Amino acid sequence: MADVETMTRRLQVANLPPADSGRGVARLPLKLMNELGLQEGDVIEIVGKRTTAARAIRPYGDDEGLNIVRLDGLQRVNAGVGSGDFVEINKVNSKPATKVVFAPASNNVRLQGSSEALRRSFEGRPFTEGDIVAIAGHQRVNADMPEHIRQMLNAPAFALQEVRLTVVSTTPKGIVHLDAGTSVELLPEFTKRDGERRADVTYDDLGGMGSTIDALREMVELPLRHPELFQRLGVDPPKGVLLHGPPGTGKTRLARAVANESEANFFHIAGPEVMGSAYGESEKKLRELFEKAAAAAPSIIFIDEIDSIAPKRDQVSGEAEKRLVAQLLTLMDGLEPRQNLVVIAATNRPEALDEALRRPGRFDREIIIGVPDEAGRREIFGIHTRGMPLAPNVDLDALARRTYGFVGADIAALTREAALEAVRRIMPKIDLQEVSIPPEVLDALSVESSDFDDALKR
Ligand code: ADP
Repeated sequence: MADVETMTRRLQVANLPPADSGRGVARLPLKLMNELGLQEGDVIEIVGKRTTAARAIRPYGDDEGLNIVRLDGLQRVNAGVGSGDFVEINKVNSKPATKVVFAPASNNVRLQGSSEALRRSFEGRPFTEGDIVAIAGHQRVNADMPEHIRQMLNAPAFALQEVRLTVVSTTPKGIVHLDAGTSVELLPEFTKRDGERRADVTYDDLGGMGSTIDALREMVELPLRHPELFQRLGVDPPKGVLLHGPPGTGKTRLARAVANESEANFFHIAGPEVMGSAYGESEKKLRELFEKAAAAAPSIIFIDEIDSIAPKRDQVSGEAEKRLVAQLLTLMDGLEPRQNLVVIAATNRPEALDEALRRPGRFDREIIIGVPDEAGRREIFGIHTRGMPLAPNVDLDALARRTYGFVGADIAALTREAALEAVRRIMPKIDLQEVSIPPEVLDALSVESSDFDDALKR
């Protein structure tokens, strides 16, 4: 029998660039497509720790000959893998769904709009129960404001933003796609199942951070995912990584993305919140947090504004502050290298930190997170306008050029403000007593170039 050279169906995962993200497509090697008898647009099953589905399309020219499949951030979440991991690809026969039930994937999202609109946005898209999908949507804002005050202030009731939904169930089960005959239900409330991976932030949600993400993946994600690698090599992975950079540059978001993509539990602690508690309380809070994180390992503890917890000891007067620095040092020293717990700390004043904190075995790695350059700003604009209906006259390149000095948080605020301008324009057409906004009003909604100009003036 002749040996036929077959291509392995195991492919290494790489990132799908933003232009192709969020569309439910995966780019595969042509050779594998031929072997599996796949036409462009056919449905495949992607098997990692989880199984998800996508439509196969041809690879980028530059990827020719590489044994990779390109997936976007949510697809990686849905397959339970990170870039560099391996997945298996199979051809599947996707069935049209008779019914699909969605729910918001996080708890601060209130969705409005008809299920018909939802069905239309996902028509043709293959998926399976438990998948998380993104949709250009509108997120409820000012929901905690009393209605008459909200109206008095002319504050908008919703903002245009990408929202994420969980596929709660499908009929039939397995890999299905939506078509004209699918009935779609949207549950009003967030639902989360045990063991479900959070998908609030992935690496795709960070702009202008290419090399920073690579560095952090190597320092944090790799040891958390593959502790055996480090044991085998006999080297200890870092226990502490210090991120420094100005406020609003995405340090918190980055730490959260690393936790999500490493499938680690995330514990967030804000420096100033710990400080100023009653005698002995601050140390106790810190100790308890480390204990909880250790019990839940793999874990990442993120300490924001660490300078407020651990300023230089010779410059603080209070005993309480000194004890807290000492406690943090003790906790860091007490971490076992094999414990699968990494502490990421952020500060914008590294020079104000107690030096002892930066000794080997503590926060001995540092990553500088700078203010983004024009290309970085362009990426961030892309991310924050992902869910918005942008008018053709909106030029994101020009906006990136005009916003010298803006950090990610400024760009996020600007895009939100521009979207609110668009919402204000259609406000008179909305009956606020109605629970949902008529589809024709929503369809006519778009964010114009002038909305960005107005937002820039604010
Ligand atoms: P930091 O921790 O550095 O103060 P955050 O991570 O809290 O900054 O960022 C605040 C918000 O600004 C984020 O939630 C996000 O909306 C936006 N943002 C900041 N940096 C970026 C970035 N590099 N890419 C995309 N969004 C960003």
